[in-house]
Amino acid sequence: MAHVTGTHRPSHAKMKFMEKPLASGPPELFARVDDYVASNAAAAASEGFVFTTLDRAVNWARKNSIWPMSFGLACCAIEMMSMSASRFDIARFGAEVFRGSPRQSDLMIIAGRVSNKMAPVIRHLYQQMPEPKWAISMGACATSTGVFNNYALVPVNQVIPIDVFVPGCPPRPEQLIYSILLLQKKIDESSGTVKQVLNLA
Ligand code: SF4
Repeated sequence: MAHVTGTHRPSHAKMKFMEKPLASGPPELFARVDDYVASNAAAAASEGFVFTTLDRAVNWARKNSIWPMSFGLACCAIEMMSMSASRFDIARFGAEVFRGSPRQSDLMIIAGRVSNKMAPVIRHLYQQMPEPKWAISMGACATSTGVFNNYALVPVNQVIPIDVFVPGCPPRPEQLIYSILLLQKKIDESSGTVKQVLNLA
């Protein structure tokens, strides 16, 4: 039989933590941050060296700041939108800044079927994106015309070069996030980045 043991008491360690309340306002919080910086300055100074190559540094910056274009073609676009919302939150991977203009984007996600009428528009938008740029084909329709395999549609790799293909109808937001992780890996592993930037490649 269970016994009621009276009021729950916090442990000793927990009580010690509670003796020091969280910052009650910005001045106190800032004072704590300043104290921390001052007391850890010596440690930071002794560990302040990072060795890398210029290529790796540029690749690291690029892979963590992918800006997709706000562009959807069909039902797959709903999953793409949900990827950027709070439940899946692509911001965790630095790719949440969906841009309204191809000139500010470096990733085109083909989310939906590509019709013969739309193909020239997609190509035109892709050409307006600055280098370096990448493209993801999302869903069966974009990749192979899917269940709408007829004269009106065209696989997207016949229109623009594709870096990652995502299977499914529709793919879940997690799949699209995984494709962005694969793209990040591809960007991270690319070589000759600086030479390309300087037009020496
Ligand atoms: S793959 Fe499925 S969900 Fe995506 S556009 Fe085609 S029919 Fe719609």
